[in-house]
Amino acid sequence: MYLDCYEEVRRLTKELVSIPSIVREPQGETNCARYIYEYYMGLDYFQRHPEQARLIQTENDFVERHSAYAYVKGTKGTSSRTVILIGHIDTVGVDDYGVFRDFAFDPDHLPEKLLELDIGEEVRADIASGEYMFGRGALDMKSGVAGHMYLIKYFSEHPEELDGNLIAYAECDEEDNSHGILTGLKEFKRLKEKEGFDYIACINADYSTGYNLADINRYIYFGSIGKLLPSFYVRGKETHVGQAYGGLDPNLILSELTRLMELNTDLCDEAQGEVTVPPISLKQADFKEGYTVQTALAGYAYYNFFTHSMSPVDVMAVSRQKAVEAFGNVIRHVNASYRRYCEKSHVDYEPLPWKSRVYTWEEYCDYLERRRGPEFREHIFRFAQQLNADEPALDLRLFSVRVIEEACRWDEDKSPMIVVFFGSIFSARIEMTGKTEKEKELLAAVERAVQTVQPVCVNPIQIRMFYPYISDSSFMAISDDVSTIAAMGKNMPSWKTKYFYDVDLVREINVPVVNIGTFGKDGHKVTERVHMKYTFEHVPNMTYLTIRDSLA
Ligand SMILES: [Zn+2]
Repeated sequence: MYLDCYEEVRRLTKELVSIPSIVREPQGETNCARYIYEYYMGLDYFQRHPEQARLIQTENDFVERHSAYAYVKGTKGTSSRTVILIGHIDTVGVDDYGVFRDFAFDPDHLPEKLLELDIGEEVRADIASGEYMFGRGALDMKSGVAGHMYLIKYFSEHPEELDGNLIAYAECDEEDNSHGILTGLKEFKRLKEKEGFDYIACINADYSTGYNLADINRYIYFGSIGKLLPSFYVRGKETHVGQAYGGLDPNLILSELTRLMELNTDLCDEAQGEVTVPPISLKQADFKEGYTVQTALAGYAYYNFFTHSMSPVDVMAVSRQKAVEAFGNVIRHVNASYRRYCEKSHVDYEPLPWKSRVYTWEEYCDYLERRRGPEFREHIFRFAQQLNADEPALDLRLFSVRVIEEACRWDEDKSPMIVVFFGSIFSARIEMTGKTEKEKELLAAVERAVQTVQPVCVNPIQIRMFYPYISDSSFMAISDDVSTIAAMGKNMPSWKTKYFYDVDLVREINVPVVNIGTFGKDGHKVTERVHMKYTFEHVPNMTYLTIRDSLA
């Protein structure tokens, strides 16, 4: 059985791309979700079962936006086994398209506009080949959602093929704070109670791409890479430029931190023979406004940190260690500089007063509680709650900095220090080892699906163990234990006031995940494009076979 789905998935992809749904932009994500909802409601099956398709608004969100989902209940048997398909409908922005902005949503006319730009030989060749569809979200990942829509339509017409159930959830806000999937988890839990669904697998269709120009493979990924954002608040000691040794510049400490963290291959995390890329800086800045001849008082930096096997506790431990090293190196550096300056100036050298002072956020709160009593904790929690109420759209990282600054006000010791914390949402690593029955079944089902489709796909289809980009799959399962997550929360200034990670809810769903995803090039770039044959035909067929196999 091979689905003739190319034309319909192509049509749906083009329609979805034509609805701008840039993350956070008013109306966009909702418009896209509504299009999907209406597509389902136009099908006979959902006319008869309207309660099985829904448009749902995200919870605890500062933007009004929606996700859409539908489910088909198989009639082949009485099994409650249920497969979840997920795919995000939001996209990144289109400012990079410049004056061609509107063409970002017009796959038919975008290529001719791109040809007017200096886009390079490879893109020109891909346009000439006619094998690609261009447009914002074409690759990441409206074509994946389109494939799932097709499959819901197909199974709504053939529920007799399923001994079990199939849900397709098209969620908003993947590119930012994952409100779409987090609200979805609650919905999956509700359906578990209402319909008795027993979740056995989750199939995502997020994008994949080659590892280099010569790479002809297509990739399917079990599990997912994890991501954390170790962040460093650095308070120095300000000084006038004329008294250069009178202060300690936070920018110097931050620079040393970046040198120690960025592209440090000792911080690559390896599991199952696959290795993460090392950390890279995503921010390094001080808080000084405007120009003065005084050095900065404080600054911060944060680094992307991917994981395959490391827990948040491990990541915090190595980040703290790097902070200690950076602080020590800078103290040695400024003292050596001062010694040479004293020699040149013929004055006696006395070591500078700086002492290394590094805390994790958890340690800093414990320290302040010891000094100031339990009122400190009560105050800081209320402060964070109020800050979120007053400025709900405040960037999560800056929110954390504001909370730390408030804590500093309770500290009578104003000497230079580093506070290490987690500044962003937690994307859990998911490592599939085949140790549970569900994992074994999914691994086998996908392998059979790949074997079946491979003969019609000219490119080798490879299976890897960690999806290497961040995706909403991270919310469908968790490989770390509960105590580890609690420990992570203690190092998040936004924990339970602005950022909520419901580990119990994730555990409630907890399914093995696989990414049978779109393939193309240049995700998040102007030349974003999806390979049509593979994505509109081979991907839905592999997903179809995996579902059939799982719900046989
Ligand atoms: Zn994506």
